[in-house]
Amino acid sequence: MIALEPFQTHTVENQPEPFAPDNLYTRDLALCEAVARDGAAWAEPALVAYGAVMAREGLDLGVDANRFRPQLRSHDRYGHRVDEIEYHPAYHRLMQLGVEHGVHAFAWRDPQPGAQVARAVLSYLHHQAEQGTSCPLTMSYAAYPVLAKASGIDPQWLSKASAAHYDPRNRPMAEKMGVTFGMGMTEKQGGSDVRTNSTRASVASDGSYTLIGHKWFMSAPMSDAFLVLAQAAGGLTCLLLPRWRPDGSANALRIMRLKDKLGNWSNASSEVEFCNAFAHRIGDEGRGVATILEMVALTRLECLIGSAAEMRMALTQAAHHARQRQAFGKHLIDQPLMRNVLADLALESEAAMVLAMRVARAVDGGGREPREAAFARLATAVGK
Ligand SMILES: Cc1cc2nc3c(=O)[nH]c(=O)nc-3n(C[C@H](O)[C@H](O)[C@H](O)COP(=O)(O)OP(=O)(O)OC[C@H]3O[C@@H](n4cnc5c(N)ncnc54)[C@H](O)[C@@H]3O)c2cc1C
Repeated sequence: MIALEPFQTHTVENQPEPFAPDNLYTRDLALCEAVARDGAAWAEPALVAYGAVMAREGLDLGVDANRFRPQLRSHDRYGHRVDEIEYHPAYHRLMQLGVEHGVHAFAWRDPQPGAQVARAVLSYLHHQAEQGTSCPLTMSYAAYPVLAKASGIDPQWLSKASAAHYDPRNRPMAEKMGVTFGMGMTEKQGGSDVRTNSTRASVASDGSYTLIGHKWFMSAPMSDAFLVLAQAAGGLTCLLLPRWRPDGSANALRIMRLKDKLGNWSNASSEVEFCNAFAHRIGDEGRGVATILEMVALTRLECLIGSAAEMRMALTQAAHHARQRQAFGKHLIDQPLMRNVLADLALESEAAMVLAMRVARAVDGGGREPREAAFARLATAVGK
């Protein structure tokens, strides 16, 4: 009889060490240079800290948050509607880290020159580790300037929008120290062309609005409130729709189903219906697109940042692999053609990051310099 060594058939050779970077910020020389160039050097301690958190904790959390996908709980066991999403704890931990470190609000909490660039870097680091949570963090970041200009809404919405406190409970805003926001524009008949929105908004005697209609794509449906578009008497209008009514009852926001997506699984993108849902008007009736465009412009900046971040993570993992994997007697990174490919990827990745940070600098300076404001307006759309 032949005595077999245990696991004789499972020899692991020529495989790289597990990918385990120690800091996504300090290891990115081009990013550190961009931070200095674009005026955010003062924020480096916060960036170094988040680079370490995302490397050591965020990457692993990202795997779990996407492996264990969110589940819709439309009803309780007795048949009552609850319209809740159950997330894996990794999702909540990522949200907590993002909110506490200011991925959604660093620039609003401390609006000094360079703050938008610093916040863009936080978002860039977060997005490398996990993309689904970037969606509610982005929408919360982008909703802030719209809320800041809104009149007649409870000022706590604004102060809690930038708080360093993540509270995932499905409870009214008044019971929370921090809140997050979603956005509802896309309907079945039109996504890019929101002018075709069919959701109706009727004004009540107290000035609030009642919404009847649907949204075909509304991500992060557990957000505390949503900026939505609907047709009021005066035309397409922007409204703030909270999950809870002022009287403490649940708002009439029905989550119909979750989208079956190719990726971005941790993010519970949903189809929703408004069945006489309560909302506050933001801006004038008929000015919905103009009002929500400020939010959309910042989400476009986030598209630049997110794309650059994904390129960076792909490059980092490819380089990690190529440094350790051997083929034809050499490490892959020492094979001339592979080196060419990686150099091309590095160039494109770095260019995408530099563009994103430059546009963030323009958003930063936009309030002070008309030229920067004009550049930001153009470059957010072109860059996306
Ligand atoms: C992961 C994910 C999350 C999302 N979350 C949200 C959310 O939270 N809230 C929300 O409101 N929406 C959300 N959306 C929806 C998204 O914003 C829409 O998909 C987007 O606006 C495009 O609309 P559409 O899919 O209806 O495409 P369409 O508007 O039908 O466009 C189809 C294609 O035509 C192109 N196109 C459109 N107009 C023109 C033109 N004039 N010239 C040339 N090409 C054109 C578009 O670029 C697109 O490639 C999400 C989508 C995804 C994938």
